[in-house]
Formats: sequence, C-alpha cells, structure tokens
Amino acid sequence: SNILAMPVLSGVLSDLHRVLLSAESIRSRVTEMARTIERDYAGKEITVVVLMDGALFFVADLLRQIDLPMRIVTLGASSYHGGTESTGQVKINWPAGVEFCGQDILLLDDILDTGLTLKALRDRLQGESPATLKTAVLLDKKRPRQHVVPLNYCGFEIEDEFVVGYGMDYQGRFRNLPCIGILKP
Ligand code: 5GP
Ligand code: MG
Ligand code: MG
Repeated sequence: SNILAMPVLSGVLSDLHRVLLSAESIRSRVTEMARTIERDYAGKEITVVVLMDGALFFVADLLRQIDLPMRIVTLGASSYHGGTESTGQVKINWPAGVEFCGQDILLLDDILDTGLTLKALRDRLQGESPATLKTAVLLDKKRPRQHVVPLNYCGFEIEDEFVVGYGMDYQGRFRNLPCIGILKP
C-alpha cells in the first residue's frame, strides 16, 4: 500500500470555506520538487534546515523522496503569534552544536508571505559561511514582498489569502488537514 495515501477526514474538512490545493495535487508537486532537488544536489550531502512547525508535513513528504545523504536540522522561528497578522519581529531558536560552515544548506519553509522570517533565517545562516545556501517553500504568496528572499524551489504560487492545512495552522489548529484551504469566516 502507498504510505502517502490519505483518508478523507470529512470532519475537519467541514471547517473549510474552500479547498485551494487537494492532497493529490500537493503530493504530485512535492514529488516533482524532490526529483528536481535530487538532481541539483547529486553527489553532495545536504544540510536541510527546516522551519517548524508549518513545514512539518511538507518536509516529511519531500525529504523521504530524496535519495541523497542529508542532515536534517529543525528550527523554530516565528513572526506570527497565534493570529493572522505578522508582528514584524522574528524570534529564532538557534540549534546548539550544529556545524553549518562549508555545508550545502537547503532552507525549507511552508510559505513565503512577507519574507520577514526567511530573510532573517537566511541572513543568520549566511553568517555561518555555508558552501551554498538555497531556499525552498511549498507556497509563495503573490503579494508585494517587504523583504527580498531569493527562492530556489517553490511548489505553488497562491493568491494573498490566509491558508491552513498540510501543516499550516490557525491558532495551532487545522494542521492535520490533508489538503490546503481557506477557513470559513
Ligand atoms: P513571513 O515571515 O514570510 O511573513 O511568514 C512567516 C510565517 O507565517 C510562514 O512561515 C507561516 O508559518 C506563516 N504564514 C504566512 N502566511 C500564512 C498563511 O496564509 N497561513 C498560515 N497558516 N500561516 C501563514
Ligand atoms: Mg512557517
Ligand atoms: Mg503559524
């Protein structure tokens, strides 16, 4: 049986106003991203830096399809504090004892919104003198970017709406939705 096959979860899905990306479309796009990343990093070891918690399922599905040696490091960083508005500040929980110098770093996050979080993380990682530093997100919101973040890999471009599901939350909830959607008002 397919480990990525998902039950429908009609209970939690009833909180959605509409589905933006189905579980199936996410799955096939994530597989394509895995193939591209695998090809680009062939012969190398990747140091994957994952921004938790929103990227939880994205990285689980993506990284299990990449046949390359890798180290996975998870970080907590947030510019959101429970609601739908950014506070304009990033708090990074930097991991102790991880060597980033000379490594090929791939930074992964769920969604690029204002760019504040990834910009802060990229600047911090660049300061560690990696060999290369690339960024991948599942979703890129079409909106004026306040902070410039070079994106190397992107799953989908979406409109400027607040989304939940597939790891992304509203006040800690809805992360377990297998698809990505817009909440009922
Ligand atoms: P940024 O720093 O680019 O504004 O976004 C930081 C974080 O805010 C993202 O990594 C994500 O965790 C959260 N975020 C941004 N937009 C959305 C959204 O539409 N839905 C959810 N659930 N989180 C979002
Ligand atoms: Mg995030
Ligand atoms: Mg959140």
